[in-house]
Parts: sequence; structure tokens; C-alpha cells
Amino acid sequence: MQTGGVSFWWRDIGLPVPRPALDGDTQADVCIIGAGYTGLWTAYYLKAARPDLSVIVVEKRFAGFGASGRNGGWLTGGFAWSHDRYAQKGEAGVRAMVAAMNGTVAEVLRVASTEGIDADICPTDELMVATLPAQAARMRAETDHRRRWGEEGRVHAIDARALAQRIAIPNALGAMVVEGVARVQPAKLVSGLARVVAAKGVRIVEGTEVTDLSPGLVTTPFGRVRAGVVLRCTEGFTATLPGHRRDWLPMNSAQITTEPLPPEIWAKIGWQNNEIVGDFANAYCYCQRTREGRITVGARGVPYRFGSAIDHDGTPDAETIRRLTAILHRHFPAARSARIDHAWCGVLGVPRDWCATVGYDAATRMGFAGGYVGVGVSTSNLAGRTLADLALGHDSALSRLPWVNRPLARWEPEPLRWLGVRAMYALYAMADRAEAGGGPPSRLARLGNFLTGR
Ligand SMILES: Cc1cc2nc3c(=O)[nH]c(=O)nc-3n(C[C@H](O)[C@H](O)[C@H](O)COP(=O)(O)OP(=O)(O)OC[C@H]3O[C@@H](n4cnc5c(N)ncnc54)[C@H](O)[C@@H]3O)c2cc1C
Repeated sequence: MQTGGVSFWWRDIGLPVPRPALDGDTQADVCIIGAGYTGLWTAYYLKAARPDLSVIVVEKRFAGFGASGRNGGWLTGGFAWSHDRYAQKGEAGVRAMVAAMNGTVAEVLRVASTEGIDADICPTDELMVATLPAQAARMRAETDHRRRWGEEGRVHAIDARALAQRIAIPNALGAMVVEGVARVQPAKLVSGLARVVAAKGVRIVEGTEVTDLSPGLVTTPFGRVRAGVVLRCTEGFTATLPGHRRDWLPMNSAQITTEPLPPEIWAKIGWQNNEIVGDFANAYCYCQRTREGRITVGARGVPYRFGSAIDHDGTPDAETIRRLTAILHRHFPAARSARIDHAWCGVLGVPRDWCATVGYDAATRMGFAGGYVGVGVSTSNLAGRTLADLALGHDSALSRLPWVNRPLARWEPEPLRWLGVRAMYALYAMADRAEAGGGPPSRLARLGNFLTGR
């Protein structure tokens, strides 16, 4: 089994040939920091609106080094957020946000098709499975909640029998089905997007760490970029930038992949429509069936490292791999004999109130987007479109969505951050153990959420 190496997705296609680093001082209309989905989508829509604009993307390692090249490949149009928190600005805005998010899947598919990005994209459904009575209660509540907030056309519940016709998961009681999602190969999507924006004239400099940023000026060891607009698109890595240590907490998520499974194992599992599959455990998992017929399983790893430290090139610890393998065997016992080919991890950005934000200050002409809490594959597309509108001074439906310019709370200093997140995940694990006996949803998970403001 290989570990780290950034991710299995990069191993699948080979690590990229590095683009040149910055080679001295330069200037641009817009400087974007970070070449993940957020930075690249922003560059894409800026160029689409204004082809004459000079845009530079400054990337510490290479395009797709971060979560964008490591994730679970769930392109869902869903959103990690609390509808109620956004509704403080009015219900209409929240409904507009739901509609905008739901539209992101079609938009990503449209751009991939128009621009010739091959990312193993497969339009499909999301199946969120319940295997215990407490999980079934959460499933019903979540289904009702999303239907109430404008997703009645695409979210519904199915019973165990209907689920069994699609996929065999032991003890499944039913599932929430979300239609109109897609499975992607994340590294193919981000590398394709980088190639497309570079072809449109965006300059991407790699191996170039931003060490300081201020209005109109971005500093790196290899030179400075003077730019009219500066946009920070560093999501889970934001805590490593000066002045931003407590903005977003770098939360860790990890994955494993099996070897490609033979037809006789697939015959037992079903899963013929490549649905993206997760569960309603408190410490939930997310899975996909890949282009080659592998199963990937993702879930939390070591959830958070003291002082907002970040993993080394995606290398997870042995205990995390053991836990992920146990989930694989529990949900897909037919794959028990399959070799685990690769394990990796990455960081995602968690805001203090667990709600994503796009921010832009017209006075300083500095902006940012992120805090997607692990639901960023589609959210980053909406963020990119929105950030582009804001940077260009367009008053649009996007620039008026309720996630724009929300006030940001900061995380507590250490050791409170570490204690809070560790306690939350310990409580989730205890809640899952308590619920395994068949009882109702455990209050311990609610206590964990309360502790961290989730
Ligand atoms: C393991 C895992 C699984 C996930 N699964 C899913 C999923 O299935 N579906 C989903 O919707 N979301 C998922 N997510 C979340 C999603 O991948 C992210 O929200 C999304 O990729 C964020 O994109 P981004 O461009 O904002 O950040 P990133 O992709 O992290 O990009 C940030 C970039 O900034 C660069 N950078 C950092 N610091 C500096 C600096 N000082 N100077 C210059 N550059 C810098 C980094 O090298 C990086 O390339 C997952 C995340 C992880 C970690």
C-alpha cells in the first residue's frame, strides 16, 4: 500500500511537470493566491468576463496540491451550512443560495464539456445510507429539512428494499437520495482547469509561496506582485498565512482506495450507476466507485493537529487507515479480500460558525473565499463566479447572495482549539457507539456540535 504522495488521484494520472516559479517583481490586474478549484474558477470567470484582464495565480506547490487534488470527488451542489444562520438575512436569500448551489453541478459539467476537461465525470445520484434506527431518524430529519428549503424536486428518501436494488449495504434501513449530482476524478478536474485557464492567458506560477499580502501587494521569496485586486484562495491552508492563523481551522479528512475489483465482487455489491455513497453516522463516511472499479472510502483522519499544523504531502497515520478499512469492510463485506492500494489525507477549512463565506472589500480591493467544511467541489465554482463578479465591481444576483461579506468569527487560541475539536470527535465516536445498540439519536453528538459551534 502506498501512503501520501499527495493523493491516489495524482498517482492515477502522474504528478504534474512543475510550472516555472515567479522570477522577479511583476504586476497584474488581479493576483490570486492558491491554485485549487477556488483560485482557478475565479481566474476562469474573470477571463470569461474580461479577456483583456491580466491575471496571475501564485501557488506554493503546484495546481491541485491541496484539497482540490485529494478529495472524494463528490460534486453535489450541496452546501455545508446552516440554513437558519443564513436566514437571519431573510429567507429569500437562502432560497436563492440553495438554487445557486444546485445549479453548480450543471455549470461544472457545462464548462468541462465546453473546454474539453476529461475528469471521469459521471452524472449520478447521491445515496446517504442509514444502517441504524438513530441514523434513520437523522436521515428523515435531513430529507425533510432539505425539501422544506427548496430541494423537494431532487431530495427524497427510499426504503431498504428500493436501496437494495441499487447497492448491497448490510443492515441498511433506507437512504436519502439526492438527484443531479456527479462523481469526478478530483485531480483530473483541477489539472484540466489549470490547463484551460493557462491557455486563456492566466499566468500560473508554481513553487512560489506567498509570505505576505496587503492591499495591492503580494510578497514571495522570488519577487513581489503589484496588483489592483488581491484574492486569497487558500482554504484549509489559510492558517499558515500571517494574520490568518485563527480564521479557518484546518480539519483533516482521509481516504483509502482498494485495487480495481473483479466483476464477481461487483455482482455482489451492485452499485451499477456509480452513485456517490455516504452514511448517516455522526462520524460519517463518503465513498465512490472509480472509473476503474475501485472503491474509495473517506472519513475523518486525525481530525485536527495542534497549532493548525498540516499533514506532510497527504500522509495519514496507521490508526486512520485502520478505521477507514473497517468502514470499507462493514459497508462492503464482499470487498474484504481486496487489497488497499493507497491511503492519503488533506485539509479543509472550517470557519468558527461552520458556514462558508465569500468576502470582498471594495476599498482595499482584497477578497477571499472558502470555509466550505468539506463540501467544496461544487461550492468553489459558485465562489469563483461570485468572487469574479465582486472583483469586477458587478452588482449581480451572485454578489447579493447571503454568504457574501458575512461577519467572521475567529477560532479560540490554543490549546482551546485543539481541545474543542478533539472533544467534538471523541463525542461523535461515543455517540456512534451508543447508537449501535439500536437506540435513538445520542445527545452526545449534539453536545459535540455545541462545543465547537457547529
Ligand atoms: C480528503 C478530502 C476529501 C474531500 N472530499 C470532498 C468531496 O467529496 N466533495 C466536496 O465537495 N468537497 C470535498 N472536500 C473539500 C474540497 O476538496 C475543498 O473544499 C476544495 O477543494 C477547496 O478548494 P480550494 O481551492 O479552496 O482549496 P485547495 O484546493 O486546498 O487549494 C488551496 C491552494 O493554496 C495553496 N497555498 C496555500 N498556502 C499558500 C501560500 N502561502 N502561497 C501560495 N499558495 C498557497 C495550496 O498549495 C493549495 O494548492 C474534501 C477535502 C478533503 C481534504
